[in-house]
Amino acid sequence: MERPYRRRIQLVRRLLVKSGAEALVVTHPPNIFYLSGFSGSAGALLIEPHGVTLFIDGRYTTQAREETADARLRITRGSLLTAVGERLRKSERARVAMEPAHMSVAQHRELKRVADAKIRWVALWGPVEELRAVKGADEIAQMRQAARLGCQVFEKVLPLVKPGVREVELAAEIEYRMRQGGASGAAFPTIVASGARAALPHAQPTKKRLRKNELVVLDLGAILAHYCCDLTRTVYLGRAPSGIRRWYQAVQEAQAAARDALCAGVAAGEVDAAARRVLKRFRLDRHFLHSTGHGLGLEVHEEPRLAKGQKKIIQAGNVVTLEPGVYIEGVGGIRSEDDVAVFSDRTETLTSAPRDLLEL
Ligand code: ZN
Ligand code: ZN
Repeated sequence: MERPYRRRIQLVRRLLVKSGAEALVVTHPPNIFYLSGFSGSAGALLIEPHGVTLFIDGRYTTQAREETADARLRITRGSLLTAVGERLRKSERARVAMEPAHMSVAQHRELKRVADAKIRWVALWGPVEELRAVKGADEIAQMRQAARLGCQVFEKVLPLVKPGVREVELAAEIEYRMRQGGASGAAFPTIVASGARAALPHAQPTKKRLRKNELVVLDLGAILAHYCCDLTRTVYLGRAPSGIRRWYQAVQEAQAAARDALCAGVAAGEVDAAARRVLKRFRLDRHFLHSTGHGLGLEVHEEPRLAKGQKKIIQAGNVVTLEPGVYIEGVGGIRSEDDVAVFSDRTETLTSAPRDLLEL
């Protein structure tokens, strides 16, 4: 992959100029990775008009040297933010931006204590996330690989989805196979929810055993070369009764409507509305308990959010999930989730696992 960091830093600097700030302190690890290539779990990145400095502690010296080329390294003994504050004091910055969504009150106090008291702090909401939402071709290629791995894992565990197996056992099997396939880990705790538990959109797997004539929701995500996939399929153990088939069809049609609505230039809320309209036609809209989808990339939940009323405009380079679902308390739930990349003139569904109702 060509090193994209210089261009990304330039874009951040442009945002800084607009906000009137001279420098930006970045502490959120995915943002640090995006802007410098450093993938350690602790660090601070200071972006100034003529330089980028990565503050790390001694544990990361070798890794930072290997991963970053465009940032100056500052290896600190004590607190990273104290070192950042000292640097800001010496460079006599007047207006410095930080990301309030990622900085605790304690961290900000520490920065203020060390840096010059005259510094004006500018709160920038998600400047790096805005850039991250628009993926380059290399990033989408990477996400295609992650999606392929997710689908392979799903197909490999399918033969194990049968009465008698415990939800936790299946979840463990899924995560094990992701790692075997090269993933650095799961993008989120794998969901295996069977029977009435499938009615909980974020169910944690339990020791419950799968039984015949139950719905099973499997929601899994792998992180491959830093990028996430997010895939959900719902299967039925046995022959599905007509009521369940109807719900399943409603979810499929809702997802297809969202996919048809998704394109560069449309408002995110319109995509959500498209799915909701279909579920309403099936009188299932009040059983749809979450938004239609979310951006996906270095993190599993990113911009843009495909939620009710969202005015943000979908752009070429966005990668989003489409995941309508219906959840009927006491009975079960159905969700179908795919990852879709948006281009200027088309979309591409990255996940290829079968979408027809699987009766196992
Ligand atoms: Zn998911
Ligand atoms: Zn999702």
